[in-house]
Amino acid sequence: MFKKISLISAVAVAFAATSAFAAYPEKPISMVVPFAAGGPTDVVARNLSQALGAQLKGSVIVENAGGAGGTIGAGKVARAPGDGYTLLFHHIGMSTAPSLYRKLDFKPLEDFIPIGAVVDVPMTLIGKPQMTAGNAKDLVAYIKANKDKINLANAGIGSASHLCGLLLQSALKTDLTTVPFQGTGPAMTALLGGQVDLMCDQSTNTTGQIKGGKVKAYAVTSKAKLANFPELPPLATELPGFEVGVWHILYAPKNTPAAVVTQLQTALQAAIKDAGFVSKMKELGAEIMPADKQTSAGAKALLSSEIAKWSPIIQAAKAYAD
Ligand code: ASP
Repeated sequence: MFKKISLISAVAVAFAATSAFAAYPEKPISMVVPFAAGGPTDVVARNLSQALGAQLKGSVIVENAGGAGGTIGAGKVARAPGDGYTLLFHHIGMSTAPSLYRKLDFKPLEDFIPIGAVVDVPMTLIGKPQMTAGNAKDLVAYIKANKDKINLANAGIGSASHLCGLLLQSALKTDLTTVPFQGTGPAMTALLGGQVDLMCDQSTNTTGQIKGGKVKAYAVTSKAKLANFPELPPLATELPGFEVGVWHILYAPKNTPAAVVTQLQTALQAAIKDAGFVSKMKELGAEIMPADKQTSAGAKALLSSEIAKWSPIIQAAKAYAD
């Protein structure tokens, strides 16, 4: 008799557990973007959140937590419960922060479970409308001759714009004044208003401004020319070897149950194929990640190889933050 009851309750417990997972999500999911609203990471996240929500039959809400090059938002998710209701949508900054920050309150490879990589986005080097340099070659000469007058906007130490600026300054063997913002959305407003001079930023923020002739556009940071900007040379034409691609990964905090991670991974892979998402990314110059990187294992491999890649480059540039 006793045995019979415990068997029934074991079945009941197992059923309850299965139906709890089957019910996920039963409330809105917060997708933290560690930069201000209206910027390039935010734009991708907002499009992704729609497609992901549709796949999960729930709602995914973007929450902007900008500051300190993305480390504030990432730290916030590292400390969030691993229950599937707080996710992080971050970029290449996740791999550079450990080398840039002497004190970091999270460990990228230990505190998160990557769900999958989503897009790889080229950067563009742009200037305020009043910049007089007409092309990349003129700009390089202008920077060398006016280094004390020029400033470079970025989204804080650890951001992609900061990384691109570091590489630029080290290729030109010069130090420029940098002006940090909570994201390159607000930095773009300052650039359009002529308050800052130059900025590297993802094409997901600059495409409209470049095509509308609102900013001076000088170069792309990809190895080769891009279909979306046939008129722009790769920066490597002037500065050999210069290359930055801003890959983006969706993460869950560690301790997120494996069943939830699997469900999120399946939904993410389907969301990345969503026709609306694909066409928006194409329009903004973002490249969809190959299928093998849209997995938890593939994204983790990408993250660890990028941490290893950037560490010696950043050490050589002697760029640290406390
Ligand atoms: N483009 C930014 C960066 O430089 C961040 C953003 O606002 O999306 O990392």
